[in-house]
Amino acid sequence: VLMKNYGHVPVMVERCLELLAPGVADGSIIIDCTVGMGGHSEAILRRFPSVHLLGIDRDSEALEIAKERLRPFGDRFEPFHTTYDQVGEVADSVGGKVAGILMDLGVSSYQLDQDERGFAYSRDTYLDMRMDTSKGISAADLLRTASQGELARILHVYGEEKFAGKIARALVRKRETEPLTRSGQLAQLVRECIPAPARRKGGNPAKRTFQALRVAVNNELTILEDALPAALESLRVGARLVVESYQSLEDRIVKQAFKDASTSGAPPDLPVVPEELLPNFKLVFTGAQKADATEQSSNPRSAPVRLRAIERVSEGRQ
Ligand code: SAM
Repeated sequence: VLMKNYGHVPVMVERCLELLAPGVADGSIIIDCTVGMGGHSEAILRRFPSVHLLGIDRDSEALEIAKERLRPFGDRFEPFHTTYDQVGEVADSVGGKVAGILMDLGVSSYQLDQDERGFAYSRDTYLDMRMDTSKGISAADLLRTASQGELARILHVYGEEKFAGKIARALVRKRETEPLTRSGQLAQLVRECIPAPARRKGGNPAKRTFQALRVAVNNELTILEDALPAALESLRVGARLVVESYQSLEDRIVKQAFKDASTSGAPPDLPVVPEELLPNFKLVFTGAQKADATEQSSNPRSAPVRLRAIERVSEGRQ
């Protein structure tokens, strides 16, 4: 598929299409839970000419760009400005079960690169970090109000940051003398907290702190945990949920939710599992798939991706 570049190259797009294809029939509905710049959405609308696509994004700016891009598809694309844990309500708005659901987690390159919202440690802007700037509190407000313990916990849990305690202490000390509101200030402070040998390893030392604050500000993991069962519930038999994660915390949540959904509720020592205890879902493949070497080198953003897919195989009890 040859597509115009909207500042974000969709990851493993061909694989996503292949995985969604078996669920698609004439007049099917697919939900893209993370429309972003509309890269995957456009590919889906092109590949499956009879599909109607419902597109969710919590970032209204992204949704506006996607709407413009997908205008040629007319009413085959319907945007929803909300978080993806509302996927069940979105499916209900068109009468219930759908033929496929895609989730391409995290932030878009557009949010990272073009934007004045403080997502990027490489640009000096106001530390907002909210994907939906109409709700919740900014990263700057979080840094101003959270206790040292809370900050340390956020950096440790959401950033898997080894120097979480040290950075939290430095943040609290700093804010006593000046307000911490800029990404440049934060990147500098983190750099000063991380010992030189650790600084030389890996990428930018501020990466984990920025990730942690973003996850906290946007409540990303809780929303994901709520969204996965809702998405599974919204699939009709034969339909698949495809999820692309970019960090281990997200992938762990996806892996666990898929495991729970695809394992039988029967005790392990039952010789024959009764029909009503068989799981309603099966993994399309075991483990997670990665982008191939060619894609990884042409689009570095695809390097960390972990793709998982699950299919509804029976109606089950509801
Ligand atoms: N697949 C898109 C493309 O090809 O252009 C890029 C998607 S980008 C990686 C992820 C998008 O999901 C961002 O636009 C972000 O605003 C959105 N997003 C992240 N968390 C969300 C949530 N909890 N609810 C709804 N949208 C979310």
